[in-house]
Amino acid sequence: MNRKLHGLVLAAFLLIFGFAGFTQQDSVVISLSLQNPQTHTVHVTLQYKATAAKTVFKMPNWTPGYYQLMHYAEQVTQFSAFDENNNPLAWEHSNANTWEVHTQPKKKVTLQYNVIADSAFVATSFIDSTHAYITPAATFLYVENQIQLPVSLNVLSYEKWSRVATGLDSIAGQQFQYTAPDFDMLYDCPILAGNLEELPSFKVGGVTHRFIGHRLADFNKQDFMNDLKKIVTASYNIMNDIPYQHYTFLGIGPGNGGIEHLTSSANSFTGAELNNENGRKSILSFLAHEYFHNYNVKRIRPIELGPFDYEHGSKTNQLWISEGWTVYYEYLLLARAGILSANDLYKNFQVNILAYEKHNGRLVQSLSQSSSETWNDGPFGNDKNKTISYYDKGPVVALLLDFEIRHQTKNTKSLDDVMRLLYQKFYKEKQRGFTEKEFWAACESIAGTSLTTIYNYVHSTEELNYQKYLAYAGLNIDAQNRSFAVTPVANPDSLQQKILASWLIGSSN
Ligand SMILES: [Zn+2]
Repeated sequence: MNRKLHGLVLAAFLLIFGFAGFTQQDSVVISLSLQNPQTHTVHVTLQYKATAAKTVFKMPNWTPGYYQLMHYAEQVTQFSAFDENNNPLAWEHSNANTWEVHTQPKKKVTLQYNVIADSAFVATSFIDSTHAYITPAATFLYVENQIQLPVSLNVLSYEKWSRVATGLDSIAGQQFQYTAPDFDMLYDCPILAGNLEELPSFKVGGVTHRFIGHRLADFNKQDFMNDLKKIVTASYNIMNDIPYQHYTFLGIGPGNGGIEHLTSSANSFTGAELNNENGRKSILSFLAHEYFHNYNVKRIRPIELGPFDYEHGSKTNQLWISEGWTVYYEYLLLARAGILSANDLYKNFQVNILAYEKHNGRLVQSLSQSSSETWNDGPFGNDKNKTISYYDKGPVVALLLDFEIRHQTKNTKSLDDVMRLLYQKFYKEKQRGFTEKEFWAACESIAGTSLTTIYNYVHSTEELNYQKYLAYAGLNIDAQNRSFAVTPVANPDSLQQKILASWLIGSSN
């Protein structure tokens, strides 16, 4: 399709979904043009039916999942606003991420602006002649206090590209047209466009899972999808529920990092790593992490992480659950999928323990502090003398807690039961996040005992007693020489044997 035809498609789109025709009266209608990729900018047209004499439009300052202020509004250029007759409207750029437009109540306002998209990173937007990766929170303005407005989105792709991939619901029969029930969902669905490659999809729990990538390397794609299916299946076996209608793994090309979403994940990925065994384990582990987040943080979540505060960031002291436990489950999923051996698993915990034990930050900052301070400390706790990373200590405390629950309940319950309880009680029934008090109450109700020691491991810098908890599963740890190597004991008793075996395969009793 050439550029002229794109223009016609836009005109037809606005006719069909514009203000006269769109069925949901208060929808925001957005068109995203990717048609000039060589300029490293994208163009946004946004239409909204104003309700007052002034309408305040804002750009988010961050994107959920990446807990740092990103100041996306700095990338906006050539902002303009028009009335229904295409006459310019007055506006003020009243602060860095705020545009106040003089509108007429009940009349349509159209915004036009460019966004510079020249930073190839999972939490920013990027476009060049090969592809575009769009972070919606870095691209689309919202109407202040109106996050709940439904959105229709038309993507005008570059003429040389064949595909657009996103976790948004598409409009049947309409190419590259999507809807979101509100701006939270719009901001939760990154958009990848280019000559993308889709790998053979699979179903788990009756739901289709797809992998769509840009610049995929040469690797055995069916084997890779078989591995991914095993990981999703292991996850389903823990949670017993698939909470989405479709799921897309986006492979966004070379780089570092991924971000989780409700119906997709954005993953720095080429697949080249799959051609050696360690690389394969590490990239599958990374994908398992971003995938399991669809449960742990997107749905099982601290109360502070929704509704999001796009202006100031949503701070919580519970990221050790959302991130640390997701690392823990990333390991378990791979072991239960048969991709990691028991020894690989022990080695992973050894690496985490060494990373935590190596630096003085462990004597200064608690796990809960590392969570609430991450907005200042950087995503991995950059000053190792003063900070720790919840990616290191979080999974280790999860391990100790899991073994404590298994030991106290004679292996009839586990941390998996806590996950299911949190999912059922807060996500499904109350449809909200949990307070930390509610979280500990859930853990103690499963364990049937007080968990004060584990609580202190989260809220203080107290030394962790690895040996005590690992022994519950018949494991030794070399804490004396500080190698922290984990090995099975010679003669485990029957409860130790049961705990270790069912931990590895994912069951209790
Ligand atoms: Zn994560």
